[in-house]
Amino acid sequence: MGDRIELVGVRAFGRHGVYAHEREQGQEFVVDVVLHLSLASAAATDDVADTVHYGELAERIVALVGAEPVALIETLAQRIADDVLSDVRVNSVDVTVHKPSAPITVPFGDVSVRISRAGLHTAVIASGSNLGDRAATLESALRAIAATPALSVLAESPVVESAAHTLDGVDEDKPAYLNQVVIVRTELGAADLLARLQQIELEHGRARAERWGDRTLDLDIVSFDSVISDDPDLRLPHPRAHERAFVLVPWLLADPEAELPGVGRVDALAASMADQVTEVDAR
Ligand code: ADP
Ligand code: MG
Repeated sequence: MGDRIELVGVRAFGRHGVYAHEREQGQEFVVDVVLHLSLASAAATDDVADTVHYGELAERIVALVGAEPVALIETLAQRIADDVLSDVRVNSVDVTVHKPSAPITVPFGDVSVRISRAGLHTAVIASGSNLGDRAATLESALRAIAATPALSVLAESPVVESAAHTLDGVDEDKPAYLNQVVIVRTELGAADLLARLQQIELEHGRARAERWGDRTLDLDIVSFDSVISDDPDLRLPHPRAHERAFVLVPWLLADPEAELPGVGRVDALAASMADQVTEVDAR
């Protein structure tokens, strides 16, 4: 965390202002933006597709300054912030709009406004446990999720129980799972949210041994806004969510209108799965 992209001094022509002569003649505006986002994956892959392209960003800023006039540079700054935050990889943005030729009747150097805005995302988290005191682990994981800064829990599903899945299919000899779905609203970007969930897994004694092996706690991101991504570090939506009763059934109980981005409505996906899980009383 703490990574940023800074683009400073983008000059563009616009007609923003309170006065008629500003609308008629227009003037130059200067924009600075600071994007706060994780640059770890771009640094690892060396691929521009894994970061925000600053050349394209600069062109979008010029287009927004040239778009329909508004009275205030505050409004213009908000438009730029909204555009930047529409890329869900960006956690937050600082936008400064300078108006060096503003109609001020005394000599002045520069005038600017600066706003800071964070994106707000909806994420669906699936938690699961099949080792130790499973119910206590899920309860504690939920508390840890809820205690995350810049995050609030919108809904939590009932806890459900189901047989363990391994790479070879259902295994009735393995300890059964308890699962729960938690829906959150957060200012964290997807990568930062995953990092936080992995930290919570470790705090609950999660050791990464065999894939799909027994675990005290597994926290997966089922969906993050409507993002679709095949980044192996964070596939969105989760590639197996659509076939997992222990995700879909509790998710539907928490949100009857739920949709899996790019796949479809959860009520339709879960229709034939209700008998694969049983609702349990967590306490
Ligand atoms: P699984 O949940 O598939 O049983 P793990 O919990 O061990 O396996 O996760 C393995 C890796 O999956 C993690 O290192 C993580 O980076 C990656 N991963 C990819 N997409 C997601 C996602 N949507 N949610 C959580 N982890 C993911
Ligand atoms: Mg996982």
